[in-house]
Amino acid sequence: MTALRNILSSEIWESRRVMRALCSRVAYPQSGCRLCTESCPADSIVFKDGYPHVGAGCLECGACISSCPNGVFLPRQNRDIDILLPLVPSIKKRELQTIHYRCSNATGASRSAVQLNCLGRLTEFLLVAPLVFGAERIVLAKGDCGNCRYSRTISHQDKIITASRLLARAIGIEPNKIALAETGAPEEISDAHVPPPDRLARRAFFTSIKSKSAGLAGMLLASGRTIEQDQRAQVRQHNWRRTNLLAILSRLECRAELEVQQDILPAAEITVGHECTGCGLCSCICPTGALKNSMKEDLFEITFEAHLCTACGNCEQACRFKAIRSSNTFNLKRLFDQKPQTLLRAAMKSCDSCGAGFIHSENDICELCRAETPKLAF
Ligand code: SF4
Ligand code: SF4
Repeated sequence: MTALRNILSSEIWESRRVMRALCSRVAYPQSGCRLCTESCPADSIVFKDGYPHVGAGCLECGACISSCPNGVFLPRQNRDIDILLPLVPSIKKRELQTIHYRCSNATGASRSAVQLNCLGRLTEFLLVAPLVFGAERIVLAKGDCGNCRYSRTISHQDKIITASRLLARAIGIEPNKIALAETGAPEEISDAHVPPPDRLARRAFFTSIKSKSAGLAGMLLASGRTIEQDQRAQVRQHNWRRTNLLAILSRLECRAELEVQQDILPAAEITVGHECTGCGLCSCICPTGALKNSMKEDLFEITFEAHLCTACGNCEQACRFKAIRSSNTFNLKRLFDQKPQTLLRAAMKSCDSCGAGFIHSENDICELCRAETPKLAF
């Protein structure tokens, strides 16, 4: 009986689903991130002992999966690649040119549409990737969102659609190819060329394994496996949302350098000023691994990978020397470069008081000891 209770307990259910190490609040408890709790229409996500938990009231709308830019919530099934891969062969053969995403409350017939409980589950990847593979249009069929129990996801849906249109524009695709269906008159589409998802998913999987070329399907499946392996191996977890998006963008060139507000697409440019003392805190509390520090031949170095940053603000907020500044806007071309950038390289010296390494050469004791000195003297 106890074993059964354990199996049914949310703790075990969550351990397979919530990648806690990626959470901005787990990395830095003072983080102001509330995106998941604010988007959950059931108030089902709570923080217990500093960790996010999904409670029993979950409505399975998928808003947390889509609203967390760090990829903390990994679906147990129907991951983004599971939704996309069955569609790809038909898109490539031009048998399927319009992808319909349809929520459970949308009216009208559309038998072969991708059915989601709520369009709040959509990600930029799900909206952009089919267009990259050659689909002509993405049509979103919604119900009466204002009177729906998932209505709290509306503003989040709008952001995902806006960000996806900007990403489409950046790769030279007409943004209006991502469109809402006419209310009350959803399009009827044929399902003649859309094999059942299970059959296609398996076929796509084996085809991708057999293929010796490193196609996108292989890359995406590989990235999916890596996430699971990472969880088992307890190594740094990857933000699957960003990994998927980068995998699709890495096949293309950036054709329009667009500046995007970080509340639309969570990403930022980070700079490190001369105030940096080399304490390394920023890298420790960066949940995505965008900021890293290292010692190279007695030089302290901070590197930044803009394509991994989700603009959580942890680094800027936590730096007690105000050395880090993050931008409010982000140029989409940085998602295509995907190169580490050195933000700081400086010689270290040992503090005469605590022995720790620090950067400023004009002083003999580090900034932290200097800040403590009045208290110690008192
Ligand atoms: S990082 Fe993700 S899980 Fe953590 S508080 Fe923000 S949205 Fe929630
Ligand atoms: S670089 Fe800073 S803002 Fe970007 S993810 Fe890391 S801690 Fe957050």
